[in-house]
Amino acid sequence: CGIVGYIGAQEATPIILDGLKRLEYRGYDSAGICTIQDNMADKRRSEGKLFNLEKLLRDTPLAGHIGIGHTRWATHGRPSERNAHPHQAGSIIVVHNGIIENYLELKERLAATGREFKSDTDTEVISHLIDEKLSGGADFEQAVRSALAEVRGAYALCILCEREPDVLIAAKQGSPMVIGLGEGEFFVASDIPAILSHTRKMVFMEDGEMVVFRNGTPTFSTVAGAPLDKQARHIDWSP
Ligand code: GLU
Repeated sequence: CGIVGYIGAQEATPIILDGLKRLEYRGYDSAGICTIQDNMADKRRSEGKLFNLEKLLRDTPLAGHIGIGHTRWATHGRPSERNAHPHQAGSIIVVHNGIIENYLELKERLAATGREFKSDTDTEVISHLIDEKLSGGADFEQAVRSALAEVRGAYALCILCEREPDVLIAAKQGSPMVIGLGEGEFFVASDIPAILSHTRKMVFMEDGEMVVFRNGTPTFSTVAGAPLDKQARHIDWSP
């Protein structure tokens, strides 16, 4: 399983697809990509190998300079298109590697407020939870922080928001995540090889950390909101 995120001047889809291919060794049963263009999110998802997603993207391309992608190793809900990530609730779109331990109680609470679930995954709960905070008046970043405060389990997350279409947020707890720093462009990935052809300047995320990409700048903090001064490392090995 793997995640890849991109924000910058280039087209996001080819970069994300290439990154996901380089994470194939981690194993997966389905895949998907979401980009935002003109304030609208659009996604393609398919069961099976990346070849299927690639074919889908050839027939119906996905444009945009900000995007997130995912290869899924199903833990909750069988491998299928409907359970493939990204998952969207309202204006929030999420890709997730890991397991949300308290998803059932969260799902019951959210369903009781009239929210409808479109998949059988634990992940979809996160998108609804963040969207609920957004509906309550929080901005994107605040909404992610307060939602994650209620979540127990493991995650590497990349999150988009149609209301703030130029912002990408990533957070890590228990699943691997590395950030690539380019010239005015930024990458998120589960592992170094996914993004090594784009940059060798990388920041390694620790548990409980989060990064917000906005206005050409990454801002690192703890999920709880304490600012972090993260140092980049130069990766000099070849894949
Ligand atoms: N638990 C999530 C799911 O089953 C994510 C699995 C993964 O890490 O790919 O959809």
